[in-house]
Amino acid sequence: MSDQRAIERAAERRIGRGTDTPASWGLGEGQAIPWEYAPAPEARDIVQLKSRYGLFVGGKEIAPRSGEWFTTIDPSTEEPLAEVARANAADVDHAVGVARRAFKREWGELPGAERAKYLFRIARILQERSREFAVLESLNGGKPIKESRDVDVPLAAAHFWYYAGWADKLDYAFPGRVARPLGVAAQVIPWNFPLLMLAWKIAPALAAGNTVVLKPASSTPLTALLFADVCRQADLPAGVVNIVTGPGEIGMALVRHPDVDKVAFTGSTAVGKLIGKAVTLELGGKAANIVFDDAPIDQAIEGIVNGIFFNQGEVCCAGSRLLVQESIAEPLVEKLKDRLSTLRVGDPLDKNTDVGAINNAAQLAKIEELVEAGVAEGAEIFQPACELPERGFFFRPTLFTGVAQSHRIAQEEIFGPVLSVLTFRTPEEAVEKANNTPYGLSAGVWTEKGSRIFSIVKRMRAGVVWANTFNRFDPTSPFGGYKESGFGREGGMHGMHAYVRLEDR
Ligand code: NDP
Repeated sequence: MSDQRAIERAAERRIGRGTDTPASWGLGEGQAIPWEYAPAPEARDIVQLKSRYGLFVGGKEIAPRSGEWFTTIDPSTEEPLAEVARANAADVDHAVGVARRAFKREWGELPGAERAKYLFRIARILQERSREFAVLESLNGGKPIKESRDVDVPLAAAHFWYYAGWADKLDYAFPGRVARPLGVAAQVIPWNFPLLMLAWKIAPALAAGNTVVLKPASSTPLTALLFADVCRQADLPAGVVNIVTGPGEIGMALVRHPDVDKVAFTGSTAVGKLIGKAVTLELGGKAANIVFDDAPIDQAIEGIVNGIFFNQGEVCCAGSRLLVQESIAEPLVEKLKDRLSTLRVGDPLDKNTDVGAINNAAQLAKIEELVEAGVAEGAEIFQPACELPERGFFFRPTLFTGVAQSHRIAQEEIFGPVLSVLTFRTPEEAVEKANNTPYGLSAGVWTEKGSRIFSIVKRMRAGVVWANTFNRFDPTSPFGGYKESGFGREGGMHGMHAYVRLEDR
């Protein structure tokens, strides 16, 4: 749809609602006011980038034994941001040894109430430095500043607050048992929520008395390295948190290290399968967002948009398959197209941006390939006529209708701003189609009938099911999947379970 057509449609909707255009604006009756958002860039000078970042081991920044470095970039401009240490197996071995010593000498024996003080301190510092973290997260990851500011950073701090609260109450979390820490936790995290995934992993591990070695994704190491500074500021004992940066093979060296006691991984199903079973795995998803004909349509539209375009759709629990009851499919898709036409795509640091940059070139290529496959397989594509920046990894919000269950865009995780719309007639058909996936991470149900919500949710093979909302996260709530979406739960008391050994009293 052209920009002109978008303006005309907006005008049509205005007429439909009976809004008069004041004569003083000099516009004809029913004519929309042509206006655009002025740029509202967040200042980036709050972030003091260093030209080089070493590894964070034993409470200090050290040069890698490998002697090698790599460049991390801003995906919205492709400009380099800093050089980062490229660890090798000897660096990993060193970090695990340091974490082991910190566990034995101090952290593993520290009373829960003392551990809690450090976690509370970290939470407070994250809040105090929240703007710095939000800007850096958007700079290095490509996500809109309004999301890193309002979701990623506050939720990361909330995880530290929450698990700080448990640190001295493990006897209540596991009544009748004694909860002992496991030892050294090896943690590998992805690029879609770099700081938040760090918090999901580090907060429960530390609260339970473990020490950690964490490897962030190669394309987004900077907020993890800024977090190292938070650990120093909080006076966290040296070696309790260690951060090693480097490629995937370093992740493998870490999770396979003979002296680690616990492995936690979030990322692709393919790598999760390589890592194996004795771990917590948070992997991919292909969530169904089911809309019944009695759903509050305007709310559902916002939920659908949030479900798939939040974080550019680079979300393991994204509602990437929209299942709409056939009787409302046509008007709902029309409304959805209108709504897509209002999404602002562009500079992640602009406070008005709804859809930022795709995190890396390989991910953009994967999205493009799957979208081409959708067109080739016969689905009908819709993309709003928004302008994309000339440089950087951007992709238009995309909607596919006429999607068959066999299409790749209905089966494979795209991990991008692409929504596939399918229809159903009966609740049974909706459940069958929703569960027809190798994944089982999340789902959504939109209906005004509470009884229907319960009857559908009971039959869904998904770890999280949202009712009349989508993509809501809370540190008290467990999160995780079935089937190829992984196993184990993170968040809530369940998340604590993965970091303790329970003994009889
Ligand atoms: P990966 O699973 O490859 O990366 C996730 C993390 O694992 C990164 O830190 C990565 O390091 C590390 N890693 C890579 N290879 C190995 C290995 N062999 N052993 C141990 N650790 C390893 O995901 P990608 O970033 O390549 O994304 C590919 C696809 O995965 C996406 O298109 C998306 O579908 C899915 N994905 C799912 C996520 C989720 O939250 N469930 C998150 C990210 C991606 P490095 O960055 O250095 O390669």
